[in-house]
Amino acid sequence: KRIITTENLEEDIKIENNLRPQYLKDYIGQEKAKKTLEIYIKAAKERGDALDHVLFYGPPGLGKTTLAGIIANEMGVNIKITSGPAIEKPGEMAAILNNLQENDILFVDEIHRLNRQVEEVLYPAMEDYAIDIMIGKGASARSIRLDLPKFTLVGATTRAGMLTAPLRDRFGVIHHLELYTEEELTTIILRSAKVLEVEIEESGAVELAKRSRGTPRLANRLLKRVRDFAQVKYDGVITEEVANYALNLLDVDTYGLDHIDRMILLTMIEKFQGGPVGLETLAASIAEDAGTLEDVYEPYLLKNGFIQRTPRGRVVTELAYKHLGIEI
Ligand code: ADP
Repeated sequence: KRIITTENLEEDIKIENNLRPQYLKDYIGQEKAKKTLEIYIKAAKERGDALDHVLFYGPPGLGKTTLAGIIANEMGVNIKITSGPAIEKPGEMAAILNNLQENDILFVDEIHRLNRQVEEVLYPAMEDYAIDIMIGKGASARSIRLDLPKFTLVGATTRAGMLTAPLRDRFGVIHHLELYTEEELTTIILRSAKVLEVEIEESGAVELAKRSRGTPRLANRLLKRVRDFAQVKYDGVITEEVANYALNLLDVDTYGLDHIDRMILLTMIEKFQGGPVGLETLAASIAEDAGTLEDVYEPYLLKNGFIQRTPRGRVVTELAYKHLGIEI
């Protein structure tokens, strides 16, 4: 596994739970989402009503689960956490919904991965706070409607486009979470260091932030790794020097790229004169699967201007040459 993966790793679970901000005021960045949520939460609370259903979409590790927890805390209600692939049968979804209390939050991560029948249970649940249950078999089968408590569905997905239209349309509030800026990540790292009781200098935090690919999950993971270096080698304080030293050893360069990213860029330069090269061809020449290349490796390289997509294929940019120290 790459250390810079934004997927949730086993090693993160405990630390992530400790580092999750509990209230909106501690949640850094995503100002637009925060402002609107604050208003909706306040209004719903004043009416004593459930919050409208909320959909968060954006890359992994940007704080979707965290925000769902914050909404529950701010509303003063319980949260039930599940995920698309975890619910296989419509009956399981019906049982979860039926066990909710008035105004509770149901958080469904990877909601685009719900299967069709399970998803269909959600339509009347979201719209009318009811589920339709079939009883009996054959000719005597009939459906009865069961009322549910009012609740809020908070869904998370990496791509809104993967949701079916009927599901997407039932969310009253839809927010796209953005990659974080270096300043925001610095603030998050300083906050995390405080929670973990790690001494860190501001310049050390900046160095970590620069290499965290815009992602708090990664920032926290790198902080934890660098802490170990600081402890063993540098009296426990994370200075810019320690951060630099440790991150270089961990193979995360000054732009947050690792050897795989660099190999992709190098391959494009050396084997394809910088492109254009098609996705399939490129994938084959680095022995990767095209889907993984497109979903996992490419987005960060595209977003940060190391490569560009053209109708004839991918091309590397001047920045990539510069970063790798290669003349065009
Ligand atoms: P997602 O659900 O989008 O994959 P998470 O909510 O699990 O992401 O967040 C991953 C980690 O990043 C958590 O440990 C969380 O504490 C931290 N994090 C995410 N967003 C923020 C934020 N805005 N401020 C502080 N920490 C954050």
